[in-house]
Amino acid sequence: MGRFAGIFLARLRGLMPDELNSTEFSALLVPHRHFSLLAQRRATMIVNRVRLFAFLFAVLTPLWAVIDYFAFPLPLWFALGALRFSASIAFILVVVHYRPSGSLGNAYRAMALLFAIPTLFYVASHQLLSGYSLAGMSAAIATGYAFLPFVLLAGLSIFPLSLFESALFAAPILLAQFLAGMLNWGALDWPTFAGAFWLLALITGVSTLAGMSQLAFMIALVRQAIRDPLTGVFSRCSGEESLDLQFTIAQRSNAALSLAFIDLDHFKSINDSFGHEAGDVVLKEAASTIARYLRRGDMLVRWGGEEFVLILPNTDHLQAQTVMARLRQNGFGRRPDQAPVTASIGLSELKADRCDDWRKLIEIADRRMYVAKRRGRNQVCDSDDHSAGRAYQTGEAVVNYQAIVPAGEL
Ligand code: GH3
Ligand code: MG
Ligand code: MG
Repeated sequence: MGRFAGIFLARLRGLMPDELNSTEFSALLVPHRHFSLLAQRRATMIVNRVRLFAFLFAVLTPLWAVIDYFAFPLPLWFALGALRFSASIAFILVVVHYRPSGSLGNAYRAMALLFAIPTLFYVASHQLLSGYSLAGMSAAIATGYAFLPFVLLAGLSIFPLSLFESALFAAPILLAQFLAGMLNWGALDWPTFAGAFWLLALITGVSTLAGMSQLAFMIALVRQAIRDPLTGVFSRCSGEESLDLQFTIAQRSNAALSLAFIDLDHFKSINDSFGHEAGDVVLKEAASTIARYLRRGDMLVRWGGEEFVLILPNTDHLQAQTVMARLRQNGFGRRPDQAPVTASIGLSELKADRCDDWRKLIEIADRRMYVAKRRGRNQVCDSDDHSAGRAYQTGEAVVNYQAIVPAGEL
């Protein structure tokens, strides 16, 4: 049974957009594993599209009253007109109130409102119309009102949503359609109702697929934009964006934030002796070796050439030293002649170094990295206090750490 399920899943995966790898596949189903930059960009895109839709609806909803005027008796026209006017005001409020902030919660609320307004309008107008028996042209125009759920569910396709999110947004509309049918219980034409409901379900399916494939493209694009193509770690541009965000979060919540500036030693000699291609391989291996031992939430950025910046949220100075000890124990890979690659590292921390700007944090770590270079490379420099001699070399590293890091943490 399990084997068949496995084969089925593998086949299903084969049908999915091939711009995604298998770990990204689950991101199409549920949103909880989306990396933060994707979540931010997606939130921005959703809010922008909500505002566009709300603006269109705000303009078009009252305009239709002109057609209603010729089709319906005056009391009905007036009641529908009042409904249209309120809906239009509600749409305008959505346009005015929501701005892209990068927060997904905000985007969900905007979307929920965008869908709630026409859903309420639909239920209310359905109630009003069912009180009248209309014929001819009027009946045809009244039938138009029944198409609103179709428009809404088709509209779902313009949002980059996961399967779960699409289902969550479609459910209330399907439910509203169902309730509207039930309210009209006595006069309900069951085959027509069932046919319409089936069509709605189909449209929901197509919209959900459209939303998921938008999400797939978005994941691939964001990944390409934020990853360095050679090493696969974060590119400098996205690193700066993230650092800015992490710095603000840490400052606001009075949390620790450490930064390590890592520069590989004598890298040029690898290129000179073994060629640029071999240099590239060493660079890739160094990045993947560092990345392998990081915690979730830590972020490795290729700052330039053979320089990396490691962002360590919620990590104080002492903990960062432990991380560095672990990194250096694992090493940075090997040169083509099998000699170990070493690095000079500068450490800085938000509170210990009293930084009020993330650029300062980088500047200090960079400066200390050069101090480590000057002192002979293959070591960490974590403070400006030269007399304390806080730069330590490989081999001695563990011994020295035990002096400053509580036993058990190593
Ligand atoms: P130091 O110990 O002082 O850091 O010596 P170094 O040779 O590492 O320092 P330097 O900054 O002088 O040289 C860095 C070299 O890294 C120069 C450049 O050729 C090489 N490099 C930068 N980017 C790449 C890359 O993408 N691929 C390869 N193969 N080499 C690169
Ligand atoms: Mg360098
Ligand atoms: Mg170097």
